[in-house]
Amino acid sequence: MAFYENDVEVFIDSAQLQARVRELGAAITRDYQGKPLTLLGILKGSVMFMTDLARAIDLPVELQFLGVSSYQGGTETTGEVRITSDVTRPLHGQHVLVVEDIIDTGLTMKFLLENLEARHPQSVRVCSLLEKPARARTKVDIHYKGFVIEDRFVVGYGLDYAEKYRNLPFVGVMKGK
Ligand code: 5GP
Repeated sequence: MAFYENDVEVFIDSAQLQARVRELGAAITRDYQGKPLTLLGILKGSVMFMTDLARAIDLPVELQFLGVSSYQGGTETTGEVRITSDVTRPLHGQHVLVVEDIIDTGLTMKFLLENLEARHPQSVRVCSLLEKPARARTKVDIHYKGFVIEDRFVVGYGLDYAEKYRNLPFVGVMKGK
């Protein structure tokens, strides 16, 4: 019996994730030909998506990570966003593609996009594996989108519940939530 089976059921399986990541990678490869592209992964939720996506892009990309904290370990957003670890190279002049696990209320991404603008990249776009439009509190333009999902609390493939379940190879839902 796998460790998660009592608590989590599969919502988007690994084959579906990998197929969609390949499609997103192909679209990004087409759109950024000849441009200096930086993938900016938002920690920690985007890590699995970021590493798969980067390998699906047939271009010389730079990988950077930005640590933010917007959740306090539960399932509710606070609306408060803090940068907990910054990039290691300037984004000035780069085409930046922000890679995120999920856009829920959109408040985290709104804050991040405002923060990134001040660093004068050549362009900024958003790539999010998941979007939960039912909970949107601000409009965020998601240029590359994996899956639009209903209002369920999801875990796995980078997403956690109190730091658990990030290593599941699929996106799941908590049983009974
Ligand atoms: P937002 O600011 O858009 O409300 O929230 C963005 C962040 O909240 C995501 O990067 C993620 O860390 C967290 N979050 C939002 N919805 C979910 C969810 O269904 N499951 C998990 N594990 N985290 C979520």
